[in-house]
This record gives sequence, C-alpha cells and structure tokens, in this order.
Amino acid sequence: MRLSRYFMPILKENPKEAEIVSHRLMLRAGMIRQQSQGIYSWLPLGKRVLDKVNAIIRDEQNRAGAIELSMPTLQSAELWQESGRYDAYGKEMLRIKDRQDRPMLYGPTNEEMVTDIFRSSVKSYKDLPLNLYHIQLKFRDEIRPRFGTMRSREFMMKDAYSFDLTREAAEHSYNKMFAAYLRTFDRLGLRAIPMRADTGPIGGKLSHEFIILADTGESEVFCHKDFVDFDIPGEHTDFDSVEGLQAIFDKWTSLYAATSEMHDEAAFNAVPEGDRLSARGIEVGHIFYFGTKYSDPMGAKVQGPDGKEHFVHMGSYGIGPTRLVPAIIEASHDDNGIIWPASVAPFDVVVINMKAGDQACDDTCELIYAALSKAGKDVLYDDTDDRAGTKFATADLIGVPVQIIAGPRAVANGEVEVKDRKTGARETMTIEAAINRFVA
Ligand code: ATP
Ligand code: MG
Repeated sequence: MRLSRYFMPILKENPKEAEIVSHRLMLRAGMIRQQSQGIYSWLPLGKRVLDKVNAIIRDEQNRAGAIELSMPTLQSAELWQESGRYDAYGKEMLRIKDRQDRPMLYGPTNEEMVTDIFRSSVKSYKDLPLNLYHIQLKFRDEIRPRFGTMRSREFMMKDAYSFDLTREAAEHSYNKMFAAYLRTFDRLGLRAIPMRADTGPIGGKLSHEFIILADTGESEVFCHKDFVDFDIPGEHTDFDSVEGLQAIFDKWTSLYAATSEMHDEAAFNAVPEGDRLSARGIEVGHIFYFGTKYSDPMGAKVQGPDGKEHFVHMGSYGIGPTRLVPAIIEASHDDNGIIWPASVAPFDVVVINMKAGDQACDDTCELIYAALSKAGKDVLYDDTDDRAGTKFATADLIGVPVQIIAGPRAVANGEVEVKDRKTGARETMTIEAAINRFVA
C-alpha cells in the first residue's frame, strides 16, 4: 500500500476526549472515528487490525471444532418473549418497531436465535456435540459508553454456542472453549487469566471471565501471581481428549483468581502474601455453561440413546474483538505510539522513503516494496512528500513492527537502515539483506 494513495487520517494533536492511552492512540493513528455516542467507524488501518484479530479468533474456534455461521443483527422480539428475557433485559436492549408495528430488537447476544436454529433442525443425540459461532455486531445501550471501542454501544462479538446431551458432555464443550481462549489470547500477544465469574443476566452454573491485567481496566481482580507464567496449551492439543482438556482446565483453575463480584477475601488471604496479585483488569472474554436455561422454555430437545427426548445442555462463549484491539494497545505501546505484536500488525513492514523525488531513494524503495509485496508481506510504503521527521513519527505512531528506512546517504552505498519498532534497535545493511530478512 502506497501511503500517498491510502486513507490514514493521522491526528497531530492529542484528542481531548480520550481518557486512556489506547483510545488516544487509536484516534491519533486514524484507526477509528466516533459516529455517535459509543458507535464507531473502523477506518482502514483499524479495519486491518480488527480483521487480523478476527482471523486468529476464527482459526482457534475452528481448531476447537466450532462451526461458523452468520446470524442477523436484528431479531424479532418473539424469540425473546419465549425465553422470558424480552422483559428481563431492560434498557440495554435497543427496541425497534418495523413498518408493520412488529417489535424487533438489535441483538445484544444470540442465545435465543441460535436455540431457534438448533431446534428447527437437530433432533437426535447423534448430531451432538455441536458448537455454532459467528462474529457479528451487537448493540447494548450501555449507560456509560467510554474509552473508545473498549466499551461502546455497538461492538463486535465472537459468540459461540454449544449443544450437548448431558452435563458431562457440556463440560467437555466448555473445556474446549476454555483451551481455545487461552490459545487465542496468547496468539494476540496477551496474557489473559481465567477468573471465576458471576453468571449475570445470561444466567448459569459455571462461568469464567478472561481478564487482561491493565491499570486502566474497569474490573478489580484478585489472583495468584503464578498465572502470569503458566504454559499455554500447544498447537497440537487434542480437543477430543476429555481427560487432556480437563487437565488443562484443572491446572488453570487450581489457584485463586476471581473478579470483585466473586471475590472471597478469606480464600485470597490463604494465598501466601508474596504470591497475591490484586490489580485492575480488562474483560476480553467470558464463557458460560447454563444447562437447560434456554432449551427448556424454548423446547430445544433431542432424542437420546434411551429413545426419550432430552432438553439439550448449552453453553455460550464470547470474545470482544473491538475491545481486544484497544486492550492490545494498553498492553503494548510507548511514548511514541503503538507497538503491535506481529500477529495483528496492520502491516508487516513500513518502507520509509526519506527523500521522495530523489531517483536513487525512489528506485530503492520501489525495489524493496515490490520484492516484499511479491513475497506476500503486507507492506506500507511511505512515498509521501512529508519531512523525514514526520515520517518517522507516523511510522512509530502506527506501530508497524519493522521499518526499512532509505535515505540518500545509505542508498548511495547500496544500503538501508532497518529499525525494530519495539526495541528501537537500528541496523544498517545492504538492500538485498533487508529484503532477504523477510523473504528468506
Ligand atoms: P462487561 O462486564 O464489560 O460489561 P459483559 O460481561 O456484559 O461485559 P459479555 O456478555 O460477557 O459482556 O460479552 C462477551 C464479551 O463481549 C466481553 O467479554 C467483552 O469482550 C465484549 N463486550 C461486552 N460488552 C462490550 C462493550 N460494551 N463494548 C465492547 N466490547 C464488549
Ligand atoms: Mg461478561
């Protein structure tokens, strides 16, 4: 992508409305724009990051055996009347009427709709286990939307829903998502700790919130500090192994970890003082097992091996991609801007032409840009007329992991500078070596 033809509206001034660093940097880097309170457009740079986050989430959902579909944002009130939540949900639900005066709503979550899909076509235990997910916009009319897309009214959620014949089978489904979440957050460059959580309006029996420790987090959390170094389940984790996944779950729940709603002071005080971590955190994921809470009122049942009908045991599993993007920034930035983990960076590398219009600089940059693009890399080429200082500041702000800098003096020697955004380390090398670093 040539910066001169891209759309990346960088802000020079610090936006006054931003209270936390991620919100400030997302606005300054031209990633998002607020359209009305708590409702955002994702501008091209932001969209690239969001897509990469979603690709990792999707990959790990698929690995764990979940199946993707897509459900609509607008839902009919009828389904919610069946489950009893239409009245229970309160003011967070945006209620709408269509031209026939039929009550509709902008979905805050999808338990009812997915249960309807399930009951309309699954009739036998032989079709279980089943886990259906989508990545879709949600709307919750939050009292206090704030911190940019960290807490917005319209936001994206990956929500998965599992269906099983028995509680034991449902627990295995829960453990699959538990392990998939550990892997997902790790691949996003984050350390998320599962904490016992309140089941809230979704209701249920077993529930964990995945929390990232951050000073700007809205939740108060308490946990054993060893969680910070626990091993993440590997790529070859067998998601069909009941014992294997139970062992992962048992290990990751063996020490104290709870949000303030579930905090047990006495249990926490039993943790040796030096091992206690009390901090603030950001909730990036939340998983629930809630048994037959929806299948029973909505009549979602299957025939079991005993020939009888059984209400299915369900769970639901949410991750917030539009919250994860700022959460990653909270965890990874410096005074100059964002430092993206390579896995979600909007571009793999930025090529900075320090003197656009200078033949040797232009030729060198074009050569590198073409070679890296051909090798399948996402390359941003700063070919604008801006001053070198402005270009450096922009590259640091948008946090691309590697910068290749071509200035007249180095280029005259057949060389460029390669800068690591995270460490700031700069290395001079031949043009060929700079290309080979990515191609080889
Ligand atoms: P919170 O406690 O932060 O209000 P919640 O418990 O109501 O969130 P869930 O119903 O558990 O949220 O939703 C699953 C995930 O969706 C959350 O873990 C979070 O990552 C994301 N999410 C929820 N509400 C918002 C929001 N207003 N803005 C952005 N992401 C959100
Ligand atoms: Mg939650």
